[in-house]
Amino acid sequence: MAAKKPSACGECHLVLADGVDQCPRHPSSRVSSDWNGYVIIMQPNRSEIAKRLQVELPGKYALKVNIN
Ligand SMILES: [Zn+2]
Repeated sequence: MAAKKPSACGECHLVLADGVDQCPRHPSSRVSSDWNGYVIIMQPNRSEIAKRLQVELPGKYALKVNIN
């Protein structure tokens, strides 16, 4: 059995912990396990990717989240 892929927030692209299906920052936002690319952003203010994703807080993010 393949490991279950965690969900990512459709709003901020934050990759959520196993078994978590709600973004702590966007409780009303939709989440999806259909996402691609995985980046760990340590210093959002110094990261081009963070700027592109409009990430302001350090964390693990998906580059692309597909919400059905
Ligand atoms: Zn979020």
